[in-house]
Formats: sequence, C-alpha cells, structure tokens
Amino acid sequence: DLETRVDVVSKDEIGSLAYAINDLAVDLQRYRDTRSEFFANISHELRTPMTYMEGYAKVVKEGLYQTEEERNQYLDIIYQESARLTHLIHDLFELSKMEEGKFSFNLEWIDLSEVIEQVTLKAGLKAKEKGLEISVDLQKDLPMIYADGLRMEQVFLNLIENAIRYSEKGTVFVQMKRSNSSEILINVEDTGIGIPQTELPYIFDRFYRVEKSRSRDFGGTGLGLAIVNRLVELQGGTIEVSSQVGHGTCFVLRFPLISKEEP
Ligand code: ADP
Repeated sequence: DLETRVDVVSKDEIGSLAYAINDLAVDLQRYRDTRSEFFANISHELRTPMTYMEGYAKVVKEGLYQTEEERNQYLDIIYQESARLTHLIHDLFELSKMEEGKFSFNLEWIDLSEVIEQVTLKAGLKAKEKGLEISVDLQKDLPMIYADGLRMEQVFLNLIENAIRYSEKGTVFVQMKRSNSSEILINVEDTGIGIPQTELPYIFDRFYRVEKSRSRDFGGTGLGLAIVNRLVELQGGTIEVSSQVGHGTCFVLRFPLISKEEP
C-alpha cells in the first residue's frame, strides 16, 4: 500500500516535488515486495530439503523399509539433500556479500584461455557420464584481461555445468575470440532442452527456475545464474542469453580489453 502517496494538484516546483515523492513511494513499495518475496523464497528453499531429510531419517530410524537396498536409497536422499542445503547456504552467503558490496575481488592480469581450459577439464567427467561432448575453440594469443581468476572459473563452471545439466544429447560448445579491438567475446552454447522466450528475461533472477520442480530434480538451487550475472557485471563484463526450446541455449559474455597502463 502506498500510504506515502500524495495527490498532485499544482504544476510548479511543489508539484514536481510531489511527483518525485510519489516515484519514491513506488520504489519503496517495490523494494518491500521483492524483499518479502526473497524471504518467502529462502524459507521455501530451506524447508524443502529439511522436510525430505526429516522424513527419510525417520523412515530409516524406525526401520520402515523392506530391503537393505531401499534403506541405502533413503540414506542417499538424505545425503543429497544435505549437500543441496550446504550448496544453497554457500550461494546465499556469496550473493548477500555481493549485494552488500562486501565482496572483494582479487584482480590481476589473467589468461582467460587457461581458466576456460581448466573448467572444461573439470566439467568433462560430468559431460562424459551423460554422453555429451564438450567442444572448445579458443583463439590463440589473446591479450590478458584484468579480472579475478577464481571468480572467472566460477562463472564458466556454472555456465558449463548448466549446459550439461540441461542437455540430454549433443555438444556443449565453448568459444572465445576477440570480437573487435576492445573486447573479448565468449560463447557457451548447448544443444539442450532450451528456455522458452517468455522465461528468458527472468533467468538471472534469484531463485528463478524454468519449470520449478523439473529443474529441482536436476539438483539446482536457482541461484547460479544470479551469481554469474553479478560476478560478470562486477568485473566490467556483460552477459546475454538466447535460446530456442528443443534446440539449445547460448550465453554470450563480453569483457573489455584494457591496456596494461590503465587497469
Ligand atoms: P539452477 O541452479 O536451478 O540451475 P540457475 O540460476 O543456474 O539455477 O538457472 C536458472 C534456471 O534457468 C534453471 O533452473 C533452468 O531452468 C534455466 N537454465 C539455466 N541454464 C540453462 C541451459 N543451459 N539450458 C536450459 N535451461 C537453463
């Protein structure tokens, strides 16, 4: 409710002041809405794994299973859900540090090719397990960029793991090249399930998931892209996404090339 709203009658300075106050009131209300939505999301995300863990722990404790195999399956669920909880709490903590500006970057001159090669190596096993290929095409001898190597690793690991997670077949393409004199361009493209056009504007929002329950089955928290987006922005880059349902998704990242004299 906009209890701070004032009726505007005059067109003079007082009138414009009144307009400004009204705008502020709208902003404030929007802020309140997102904040309470955020807390509602957090409690839902925390409650869900807790409910599973509690339920299955009880089943195991009271011996309500037929076979050893069944018991192991329940223990597995408890383990997975606690791992998810740890992941979620870690992500939340990272995001809150970033939002509060308490997040420090360790900026240095880095070779992004090395970072990307490292990440694709790490993600390779997961891709192999799903029968997916990772194709890496990195232009040689690109200039170094001024960024935080570990944070960049986090960005690309997130994007590549998503590409693997949301693909059933095909190839994940990772490409890096100099697009013009002042920019490095990186594509992370998959041949996966895709994202509907109507959902694209929201996928960088905290806790946003396309088809909530399905993506939860994939093991995600809904925070990955929110973190990626902030990390890219805070390091001076941009990120864009395009997608076609049933064909695949492409993330395009751009980082400015700056001269070594003016980092
Ligand atoms: P999650 O942890 O659920 O994967 P993200 O913030 O990383 O959360 O992504 C948000 C949502 O965007 C995901 O739940 C998924 O629905 C969608 N998404 C992200 N990357 C892809 C992709 N490469 N292909 C299809 N859908 C994707």
